[in-house]
Amino acid sequence: MDVSQKLQIVTASARFDICGYDAARSMQLATRDPHRFIYHAKLPGGGCMSLFKVLQTNVCTNDCAYCVNQVGRDRPRAYFRPEELAGLFMELHRKKLVRGLFLSSGVAGSPSRTMQEMIDTVQILRQRYQYQGYVHLKMMPGAGYDCIEAACRVANRVSINMEAPTAHHLARLSSRKNLYDGIVERMRWAKEIMSQHEGLVPSGQTTQFVVGAAGESDRDILRTTGALYREIGLRRVYFSAFQPVIDSPLEGRSPTPPLREHRLYQADWLLRVYGFSPQELDLALNDKGNLSLSRDPKMLIARRQPWLFPVDVNRASYEELLRVPGIGPISAARITVARAEYSIDSLEQLRKMGVVTKRAGPFIWFSGASAHEKQLCFLQEIEDEPGDVPSLAGAIQ
Ligand code: SF4
Repeated sequence: MDVSQKLQIVTASARFDICGYDAARSMQLATRDPHRFIYHAKLPGGGCMSLFKVLQTNVCTNDCAYCVNQVGRDRPRAYFRPEELAGLFMELHRKKLVRGLFLSSGVAGSPSRTMQEMIDTVQILRQRYQYQGYVHLKMMPGAGYDCIEAACRVANRVSINMEAPTAHHLARLSSRKNLYDGIVERMRWAKEIMSQHEGLVPSGQTTQFVVGAAGESDRDILRTTGALYREIGLRRVYFSAFQPVIDSPLEGRSPTPPLREHRLYQADWLLRVYGFSPQELDLALNDKGNLSLSRDPKMLIARRQPWLFPVDVNRASYEELLRVPGIGPISAARITVARAEYSIDSLEQLRKMGVVTKRAGPFIWFSGASAHEKQLCFLQEIEDEPGDVPSLAGAIQ
């Protein structure tokens, strides 16, 4: 089998490991794209980076029920030798088709052996080709400490997919993966290695959930997500809406609506960027523990805490401003800077600062406005009592 045949086989598998709001769309586009091994990763400050998204091999001895590569599935399999894959990447890089590498793999027998092949690939890039660019390297569940350390030494970002938020849910998807010993322990090792060696893994550690494959609720996902940020210091958690794979145990299961994935990203944003507490996020959940598909979680949380509003734009703290629908971190910061110079007294001024005034209007007032103008009508009652914040061990049990 030549390199281009191998590339066709493994990229057909790798495209199912796409994370992001538009995952399903990306997958559809990818099937029509002659360069479907290129994944356009969004960058935090805007723009995107084209990554060579590839597997070392799509051979796998695991049996994850949602996955195209699960053991026993009849499909073509291929394996890249490290020097072969490194050479292929450099060819694409020289042609300016890709700017970075996102390397994952099936688990071909021993997790440590598979991971060593991936590390060898990156070491060839770093040493033989003097490639200094971006590498995102997946860690294999169950791989040894030495492999995790070696990965942290060569990669800009490392990740290991949790796939499900609790041990109970993961057991529904795989008979061979162990959430605590096989996955979370590797995350803790990576965290420990990064804290001991300053400058390693500059883009941090991440993980991903397959949403909707195991019958988990959004509450399950968000509790574990919050615990991962607090205890492991993950840089990001990604959500990928489940899509059934033909000839797999979940073939007949309905796909997860992409909107559920989108709502989870919105809730994650509130947790990670806006500093909302897990108890506040609980206010956005229904009695089944799921986010509304039709309502924005931040708006729901605000409506269920009517006693917090309206906030005085000229006196509210940065944190209070952030809880107003339509006000984000940038516009909240602009408000705090501007009001040190002058009094803010109109929606038009706020609009120029980036506030979505249609959303924010009912939740704010300006010092000096009459009592009548401050009156608001919040019809929603709080539905759920906020729960305790679970530890990671508690969340995944
Ligand atoms: S470990 Fe599971 S998710 Fe990963 S390639 Fe193997 S079967 Fe697929």
